[in-house]
Amino acid sequence: MAQQWLDLAPQPQESLQGYVHRLRTQRQWSQAQLSQAAGVHRQTIGKIESGMTQRLNQRARSGLALALSIPVEYLDAVCGGTPVAQGVQLKVCPRCWIPGNAPDPMWTNLRSHYCFACGTALLSRCPHCQKPIGSLEFRFCSYCGTAYKSHATQRE
Ligand SMILES: [Zn+2]
Ligand SMILES: [Zn+2]
Repeated sequence: MAQQWLDLAPQPQESLQGYVHRLRTQRQWSQAQLSQAAGVHRQTIGKIESGMTQRLNQRARSGLALALSIPVEYLDAVCGGTPVAQGVQLKVCPRCWIPGNAPDPMWTNLRSHYCFACGTALLSRCPHCQKPIGSLEFRFCSYCGTAYKSHATQRE
């Protein structure tokens, strides 16, 4: 199961085309389903997966990140052809984060330990079983069922 989560990160040298295709097929989605989930035009998905574009506009970038439950930095990394910054981690503020929404880039930065908005310690793992947060769609840990949100701890 942990392997599944690790697979969400782009492989070294992976292209945008290969990356999006891989994550989409991992979920057994058709291009139409991804287009719908991401709110991105079907043609755009087709273009990305046929390698016709290496750039994403803001809307496609955030839409795809949300639909595929990945930090936008992963997409930036494949678009820029750079290895994923060591500094990116799936992390959320258990208070401000609304399940089903992409995490704020300020949270996923490795240097961030507290939420910039409310000062709550950021969560990158289940506080109960320590498994990394594997999905941004659920408010519960998919391994043990612990609610992420009830574990908000205030700084100071
Ligand atoms: Zn917060
Ligand atoms: Zn857990």
